[in-house]
Amino acid sequence: MSRKNKNKLSDLFAQHGLRCTKQRVALYEALYNARTHPTADDLYRSLSDQVPAMSLATVYNTLEAFCDVGLAHKMPGAGVNGSARYDAERGDEHLHVRCRVTGKIADVPEELSKEILNSIPKHLLQQIEQELGYSVDQINIELIGQNQNAITDLREMEEVSKRQQRRRQKCIDVNDPDYQKGLAAALNPKMPKLNPPQKEESD
Ligand SMILES: [Zn+2]
Repeated sequence: MSRKNKNKLSDLFAQHGLRCTKQRVALYEALYNARTHPTADDLYRSLSDQVPAMSLATVYNTLEAFCDVGLAHKMPGAGVNGSARYDAERGDEHLHVRCRVTGKIADVPEELSKEILNSIPKHLLQQIEQELGYSVDQINIELIGQNQNAITDLREMEEVSKRQQRRRQKCIDVNDPDYQKGLAAALNPKMPKLNPPQKEESD
């Protein structure tokens, strides 16, 4: 990250009452650059090499702090395991479309989002305000459907998750083809062929 960017981020954090730390900068940049609406776990894994000292709890708490001061948004329960996903505040107004199979979320382009939001009849909002006693100042619509690549995406996600689990647990996976090959080689070593023992002539 350039010094200019770091200064900008330190100003941004200061404006929102947050102290600028190396971990916060790394996490904010990762969240801002990801257009995938990552979960806390996704971000923790993507930063594990860059900021090895950062725990999953710190990632989670920092994301919550970003949300509290308006630097990020939380989409509760949108992850594939019911975990929350996060989005950096970008100063735009976009809706989200979520895949019900993978939990992945994509941004609806801002122009389209605006068109959808503006197409909600004002008189219906007024009616809701009057009947329910609310003053509506924000509308949040999530579109839900199945992405055409959902099944491939799901398989990929499962593969990645399995690989990461293996790496994390540092244990042997008996189903891993490489492990099985190694085991087979260990059990059936290619020994040099020995000449069969000569039969002793009896009689
Ligand atoms: Zn978004």
